[in-house]
Amino acid sequence: MKSYINEFLGMEKPTDYYSGLLSDIEKLNKEHHFITTLNKDISYEKDGRLPFTVKANICVKGFETTAGSKMLRGYLPPFNATVVDKINASGRFSFLGETNMDEFGFGTFGLNTEVPARNAFDNDYVAGGSSSGAAVATAMLKYHVAIAESTGGSIATPAALNGVVGFTPTYGAVSRYGLIDYANSLDKIGVMARCAEDAKVAFDTIRGRDRYDTTCSVETIGNKKRKKLFVIKELMEKAEEPVKSAFERLLDRLGGNYEISEIDSKIMDKAIAPYYIIAMAEASTNLAKYDGYKYGFQNEDTNRKYNDFFTDARINFGAEAKRRIILGTFIRSESVKDKYYSKATQVRGMIIREMRSILEEGFIISPALPIATPKIENASKLTPTQNYAMDIFTVPPNLGGFPHITFPYEYHDGLPLGAQLVTGHANDYALFDFVSEWEELFEYRFRHNLGEI
Ligand code: GLN
Repeated sequence: MKSYINEFLGMEKPTDYYSGLLSDIEKLNKEHHFITTLNKDISYEKDGRLPFTVKANICVKGFETTAGSKMLRGYLPPFNATVVDKINASGRFSFLGETNMDEFGFGTFGLNTEVPARNAFDNDYVAGGSSSGAAVATAMLKYHVAIAESTGGSIATPAALNGVVGFTPTYGAVSRYGLIDYANSLDKIGVMARCAEDAKVAFDTIRGRDRYDTTCSVETIGNKKRKKLFVIKELMEKAEEPVKSAFERLLDRLGGNYEISEIDSKIMDKAIAPYYIIAMAEASTNLAKYDGYKYGFQNEDTNRKYNDFFTDARINFGAEAKRRIILGTFIRSESVKDKYYSKATQVRGMIIREMRSILEEGFIISPALPIATPKIENASKLTPTQNYAMDIFTVPPNLGGFPHITFPYEYHDGLPLGAQLVTGHANDYALFDFVSEWEELFEYRFRHNLGEI
């Protein structure tokens, strides 16, 4: 089974990989903007391990952690997130840097940040979001794993658009302690790697209980094999060409090993609205703490009028963050909360129940996105609702906390297309096995047309 981690560990002179690594990254970073904080001290002699990166919303002691926001510029966390402590304690990986992202995780294409990341295959195209930099780093760096985070598709989408494996675990399998929250009932820390085996190793390194996060309670992870693949008709109707035909070709190839059926869903294609209602309600609550006094942009001059003081701080949020604060605060207000928030949580429950019964029988498979990778100039013209609609495949498993994995399956005009596989709660290992099998079937070879480091 392909494993870049094992290849690295078996190398005679891993020092060769490290020589020039930092300067190569700095060169590539000028065009692709995937790293926001680089650990310039990393060296094989000192660390002797495989490099790992974290999404910029995961705290690393003493390293600037901004969550892609001007609001947190200069923030040096005084502690490590639990995942960072676990990965350091494993003795296998050393910290290389933090990766670019949509501000606080708000986005699908990686464009909602100060300097957007660009696709690893062609820098005129979007990297995908919100874990844009993590996916580009995984595509660019041969020996490396990325720790990323997903609320509604932020691992699946960028992984698909950069041709790497993106894994989002069962909600509660990995500690969120030290993650800069977007929406607590949805956030999951997961991983990206170039192959399923390496993603599994990285997941095993970071998962497990943590006394600092009481929601992290899923200890036992299973591996129930499934022979059935379900395609949701109502979701597939949203897929456009060339994704539609490419995905049909994928199903043809999987048909030999799996029983594939198209089924109806009453509710999964309605997931976007409840997801954004819940996500924005939680996000607006989480962002309230950035007041320029306790948290966020520090306003030294405290001898000012209340409104001026807070406005000066909160003006540092980007446009999408402001939109979500306004909408999220409205959604939570007394007069409309039953109309929106309560209804959204009911629909969420219906989606979970429906998916749970499907997933008892088999996997759900779909493309990761309904369209092929857009150019940056085209994606930036999309309206917010057009943007949100791009999450149609990734939002349902995220709303339900179901584990899912994205893997590359075809290339269109030189850019990768990714598929998404979902399984039931705490059955995460079955996903790695499926993708490893696919990698063999596909004679998977990581493709990169820009040269890699
Ligand atoms: N596109 C989704 C959003 O903007 C997902 C983001 C995420 O998973 N962090 O909310």
